[in-house]
Amino acid sequence: MAYRYVSHETIRSELANALKHITFNPDPELPALLKSALANETSEISKDILKCMLKNIELAPKIEIPLCQDTGSLVVFAEIGNHCIINGPPLPEIINETLIKTSAELYLRPSILKDPLLQRENTGNNAPAVIHISIVEGDKLKLQIAQKGGGAENMSQLKMFTPSAKVDAIKNFVVETVTLAKGNACPPLIIGIGIGGNFETCALLAKKALFQTLTAKNPIEQYAILEQEILKSVNETGIGVQGLGGKTTALAVHILNAPCHIASLPVAVNLQCHSHRHIEIVI
Ligand code: SF4
Repeated sequence: MAYRYVSHETIRSELANALKHITFNPDPELPALLKSALANETSEISKDILKCMLKNIELAPKIEIPLCQDTGSLVVFAEIGNHCIINGPPLPEIINETLIKTSAELYLRPSILKDPLLQRENTGNNAPAVIHISIVEGDKLKLQIAQKGGGAENMSQLKMFTPSAKVDAIKNFVVETVTLAKGNACPPLIIGIGIGGNFETCALLAKKALFQTLTAKNPIEQYAILEQEILKSVNETGIGVQGLGGKTTALAVHILNAPCHIASLPVAVNLQCHSHRHIEIVI
């Protein structure tokens, strides 16, 4: 395969367009899931809020006001083909410069701090992004990006189970995580679950699970069944829309699994709020 050159100008332009798009538009499947939740909901207050969410989705792109005031941390999963050469500065520099420029152009709220504990001083420009890079076969550059809000991220959890843990223990851990979150994660939720790998890879799997289409199912039947069982149990908690009661606590559950050590069974639960903003671009 011949080497293919991709200019940094092309990446900047495509990324800026993608960022603008997700600032005003959620996952394309989200409105249908919210409408179906509305049809199924019995709580009057949850129904009212679901209608507000649908109206918000309709208005945001028209009047170019962000879907949520929290435009989040920019999370990027980049896959660089081994025959793709980026003509320009290193990819993280391109991503961060584009993020800074686009945040200023769209008046996005600065949400990132230089130091998490001591100074907590705002960088003022939404950089740096959280970037995960992997090298794959091919001559393309794939960028999966998301604006990940702080409220839902804060309520996410990771637990290192022992190998003797049964499926029910994992299910209970997810339901407990959602129950502890109550309205703080801004339900209805999308729940990303990573099972396997080690301490850090199960967290990455949980995050990556949120980048799938909302109707995606795990290709392994038992995991696909578990996704549906967890969704049902979470919706039976009665937490409801924004924690105000009702049948709609989550819209989708996605599990990603990976091999792990014989002594381990890591599980991470990454909660995502209804402001589910992500997109994939391939250059
Ligand atoms: S958790 Fe989501 S919906 Fe709630 S404030 Fe943050 S981005 Fe907005």
